[in-house]
Amino acid sequence: METHLHNHEAPDRGTRQQPPSELPIRFAKGVGPKRAKLFEKLGILTIEDALWHIPWRYEDRSTILPIRHLTAGTCGTISGTIHSSTLLQTRRLGMTMLKVIVQDETGSLEVIFFNQPYLKTMLTLGAGVIMSGMVAQASRGRTGLQLRSPSFEVVEHGQDRSLHVGRLVPIYHETRGLTSRHIRRIANELLAQSPPVLEDVLPPSIRARYHFPALPEAVGHLHFPPQHWDLTALNQGTTLAHRRLSFEECFLFQLALGIRRHTHREDKPGIAFSIPTTMLSTLHSLFPFQLTAAQERVIKDIQDDMVRPHPMNRLIQGDVGSGKTLVALSAMIIACGSGYQAALMAPTEILAEQHALTMNQPLAQLGLRALVLKGSMSAKDRREALASIQSGKTQIIIGTHALLQQQVEFFKLGLVVVDEQHKFGVLQRATLQSKSQHPDTLVMTATPIPRTLAMTAYGDLDVSVIDSLPPGRQPIQTQLYRKSGRKQAYALVHDQIQAGHQAYVVYPLVDESEHVDLESAIQAADRLQTKEFPTHQVGLLHGRMKSAEKFSLMEAFRQGAIHILVSTTIVEVGLDVPNATVMLIEHAERFGLAQLHQLRGRVGRGTVPSLCLLISDSVKGAQSKPIQQDMLPLSYPHSPGLEIRPTPLQSAQQRLQAMVDYSDGFAIAEKDLQIRGPGEFLGVRQWGLPTFRVTDLLRDRAILEHARTEALALIERDPHLLHPDHRALKTAMFRRWGSAFNLGSVG
Ligand code: ADP
Ligand code: MG
Repeated sequence: METHLHNHEAPDRGTRQQPPSELPIRFAKGVGPKRAKLFEKLGILTIEDALWHIPWRYEDRSTILPIRHLTAGTCGTISGTIHSSTLLQTRRLGMTMLKVIVQDETGSLEVIFFNQPYLKTMLTLGAGVIMSGMVAQASRGRTGLQLRSPSFEVVEHGQDRSLHVGRLVPIYHETRGLTSRHIRRIANELLAQSPPVLEDVLPPSIRARYHFPALPEAVGHLHFPPQHWDLTALNQGTTLAHRRLSFEECFLFQLALGIRRHTHREDKPGIAFSIPTTMLSTLHSLFPFQLTAAQERVIKDIQDDMVRPHPMNRLIQGDVGSGKTLVALSAMIIACGSGYQAALMAPTEILAEQHALTMNQPLAQLGLRALVLKGSMSAKDRREALASIQSGKTQIIIGTHALLQQQVEFFKLGLVVVDEQHKFGVLQRATLQSKSQHPDTLVMTATPIPRTLAMTAYGDLDVSVIDSLPPGRQPIQTQLYRKSGRKQAYALVHDQIQAGHQAYVVYPLVDESEHVDLESAIQAADRLQTKEFPTHQVGLLHGRMKSAEKFSLMEAFRQGAIHILVSTTIVEVGLDVPNATVMLIEHAERFGLAQLHQLRGRVGRGTVPSLCLLISDSVKGAQSKPIQQDMLPLSYPHSPGLEIRPTPLQSAQQRLQAMVDYSDGFAIAEKDLQIRGPGEFLGVRQWGLPTFRVTDLLRDRAILEHARTEALALIERDPHLLHPDHRALKTAMFRRWGSAFNLGSVG
């Protein structure tokens, strides 16, 4: 074919079949080895990457105004040549001002740039420029108009001028030495090739269903949009062409996940448990309530997984207080019913103890033995526990990270449950799993991961959601107070205690060794006991206490002997004391949104209304109006570094306001995602979030959902993508995600 690629230079990995799109970028016309290095900096290695490097914004340069027709207070684009260029030191120390005079046939205009002295080397005498910006009246009594720090581009008066002016012009992410102008030219060359460099891999039926344009057309339009296209939609990345690209990206991603999951299921032998129906119904009858429909549904999902001869890999998402413990217990009973052991790992000793407390009695009734394994045990207790685990005498093992230690050997481990999964790393889960051959695995989290992220982060897990709370729960009212309003907050605490309820008072503890924070919790406990609540019992719980002390303190709180529990954040996860109805959080601005929601989840667990009182001086006080959508700028694709994110102060305010406005964990998580962006949310690395080229997980979540549905349907029909119609798709999928997902080769 007649291409503009330098095909005579043999590409190094070059095979005959290698499509032009996969060629290294240095083979594109206008890109030599030197410029290829610059492209690499932008993550562009191949020709395909370059074409997928779509503009992050566009400028309407369709109307170039004669300088004479500019008016102050409007936006204008001009085209002219540099007539003079002077670098000045301003009177304010260290400031520079570059003053440039630009001329066209109708007049001249002053343009100034502050503190960008290096621009002088670009804006040289006689250079042709396009400049866009707000037109202002020149300052200090001088007449004439001025452009201040406009966006600009140096253009040559060559033939390709039409790429840079007189149209909707693409602006790319650039790197030093590689400007939008360069990229525009190269994109233009690549797009001009016939046949098109890019191949459309989407199945035609899908393309038709969504009315998607063909890929080459979509890409072409994104680089050089037709004049009538909506500039706003282009800049927001919401045109059909954008969605076409995003869909493809998500679709390939979901295909890869689906195929990996499919192979895992088929390849790995696992345990086919039988369901001990009688034991299960006995278990459920031992609790003084009925399972919620959501709990029933999730237990059913688990049963279906566990009877299959392949390992279960299921994530249970359920908001705080939705009743995950009983679901986990049911799964553990299934494992034990078939003669296996089950291990439950929790992030804190307090939580492990609490689980044991909840489970011991029903387990004993079923003739099963449980024990708790934790870091702080006497050598003798530990030895006995380990022996009992190894001999199989104990069927249910509840523990902390201590379970991961090498000395812990199981007799016959069939099920691994990880509670509050977000507190553990992926590796820790793997370590526990490795204590047996392909055990079934259940991970539980109350950190409500927005669906979009769950789909990507947990794509290889099956997800069940406990989407309703047990009946009779009352909504928790959340209020913001400044420190000066603390008295009012205490009054509310007082009322609740008078009514026979209990309260938590939480202080932030960034790090267990942080002395100052601990001091403030200790002092607060003291002050609360002696000054504010002298007739009630105040207790103090913190991370440096001995395990036994913590345990007996928690017991006292559980029994109601302690009315106010002052604590550091170790009460954050899992605690379940339904009589506690107030959660008062000091320095609330220092907590993340997910953490605040977890803390708030410690109350509202019974059938009386509860309160969450947030104290912080970072906020202007309680506001009842919801957060404005437009306060939260969406990120641009391709611009991880350039996303406009709120300052810490704004974001603290937004977080606290979100707590007031929303009670549902999923709504909170969506807000968190908006405030922090997907990169920050929970940490990309921990969740192994993929990086997308075009897709913005916030903006494009609907697309992601559609892509997932389509991908799953396709895998259902053609699990190995063997149909000839799917060949190109398969190749593209492997190219894009094969190594990331360890899928082997196309084969
Ligand atoms: P989480 O999902 O936060 O782990 P838990 O399992 O600790 O929630 O349950 C929260 C509280 O709800 C516990 O006190 C538990 O006994 C109670 N609970 C669980 N299931 C039900 C139900 N179906 N009906 C009423 N209360 C329930
Ligand atoms: Mg729990």
